[in-house]
Amino acid sequence: MSAEIYPPYPPTLTQSERDHILTNIKDWSIAHGLAVRPAESYVSKDVDPAGALATTAPVTLFPSLFPRRCFDQARAVSKAYNELYSAISVDEGWLGEIVKELLDIDDFIENLWKIHLQVKSEGYVQSIQLGLFRSDYMVHVDKSEGSKPCVKQVEFNTIASSFGGLSSHVSGLHRHLLSTEAYPDATESVITGNALPESTSIPNLALGLAKAHSAYAKASSPAHPTCVLFIVQDPERNVFDQRHLEYNLNTAHSVRTFRLTFDNVLTYTRLEPGTRKLLFSPAHSPHKSYEVSTLYFRAGYAPSDYTTEAHWTARLHLERSAAIKCPSILTHLAGSKKVQQVLATPQSPHLSRFIPDGNSSSAILSTFAPIYPLDTSPAGLTARSLATNSETAQRFVLKPQREGGGNNVYRSDIPSFLASLPETHWPAYILMEMIEPPAQANTIFRNGELQSGDVICELGVYGACLWKDGDKPGEREIMENFEAGYLLRTKGAGSAEGGVAAGFGSVDSCCLV
Ligand code: ADP
Ligand code: MG
Ligand code: MG
Repeated sequence: MSAEIYPPYPPTLTQSERDHILTNIKDWSIAHGLAVRPAESYVSKDVDPAGALATTAPVTLFPSLFPRRCFDQARAVSKAYNELYSAISVDEGWLGEIVKELLDIDDFIENLWKIHLQVKSEGYVQSIQLGLFRSDYMVHVDKSEGSKPCVKQVEFNTIASSFGGLSSHVSGLHRHLLSTEAYPDATESVITGNALPESTSIPNLALGLAKAHSAYAKASSPAHPTCVLFIVQDPERNVFDQRHLEYNLNTAHSVRTFRLTFDNVLTYTRLEPGTRKLLFSPAHSPHKSYEVSTLYFRAGYAPSDYTTEAHWTARLHLERSAAIKCPSILTHLAGSKKVQQVLATPQSPHLSRFIPDGNSSSAILSTFAPIYPLDTSPAGLTARSLATNSETAQRFVLKPQREGGGNNVYRSDIPSFLASLPETHWPAYILMEMIEPPAQANTIFRNGELQSGDVICELGVYGACLWKDGDKPGEREIMENFEAGYLLRTKGAGSAEGGVAAGFGSVDSCCLV
């Protein structure tokens, strides 16, 4: 589906049409918490010393076009991906082989693995784990005659998969603009019937946490009032995204939640001797103790979260605890880019090892884009020659074992980047072919400004999975497995990266065509 195959959309707006849409976006977004704390570059501390202001999250004016068959394809494979990554998480031997290749060249991965080994040596006291995953895709169009667009996976996230809170609301915003006839009549031929799917990420991600919370209570007979503890960064501009999950847990499930910055973990939590139950006494009521059923990590995924040795002690302390982790260290590591490269190796036995069902594994396989190692294997040597040649490097992105955006090296920057790096460190990266989704027109509203032009979209599909380790290594019992809504992020077609929080992209919703 080339750009011309998308219908003409969106229509050019008159000044008053645009003003009307903008007024609605500005009011609806604040009224519904489709918001972020402003960057200091937008609202300075002098203007807002109390940190009391919020602004509309970067959003598109119109829901972007997305091929319906691609949307269905990504959603249909969601539960199989949950199965795959839960299976990898409990296969310590397999994961260990992959991590081994990275230990000497990636301190961050090494430190995470060491925590796992330390907890393993004294014995884990919690066998249930929660994954709130997000599998990200772009539309791929094969150049060959008659082929239909499909999705290719950009990456799979096993930790701190964000924007589920905002996503439900941006799909709500676009539906509101449609139902109040804020869009010009010309959109009617494109936004028809069920073209705007609702994103159910808030209730579904909260449901995942609620399921873990009640599984904990069932298995552990808590002696204290229980809570779900969000481990967060400070400052956090994307706080409302997280708050929506907390509010839903509270109102729909009567689950108590608290937020604790990663910095404060060792000050406000302790382990009950023997049981290693995680007890939390909040700063605002230190005489109370809550038993943490579930730890939800929205911090701890990047080296920048670990500025002192105490942060590593804090992660170890949490991993040792009896709380259900979302994610555990092993599930965190299962999400590394290296795992995605190994799974995508052509004719590899790995996928069928974890997903014996042929239909499920071929559905997953069809979403893989080519990814190569940068080691000294035959495939790695071929990849090295592609990556160091300025012409062929144009087709690729180079990724380290990192999360959270801003870590990749793109296209023509790859050869000089590699040249600056000792060759012994090259295997810490993977080389991935760039997916080239068709561009379309839209307008992004960000920090009070409009940017119109060609944009490209990335679809994320959330998945929730709760499982219990089996008695034998590699075995598990899946307790819950469901798809948990979708996210569409949209960025300027010229921007390589496109993270919403990092300052490039916007949140969007799908207009299915
Ligand atoms: P992170 O874990 O930091 O989010 P990603 O693998 O998602 O890392 O890469 C960040 C961004 O880079 C993506 O959101 C996407 O915009 C772009 N990107 C990554 N891989 C590809 C790819 N193969 N093709 C096109 N764009 C990509
Ligand atoms: Mg990403
Ligand atoms: Mg990621």
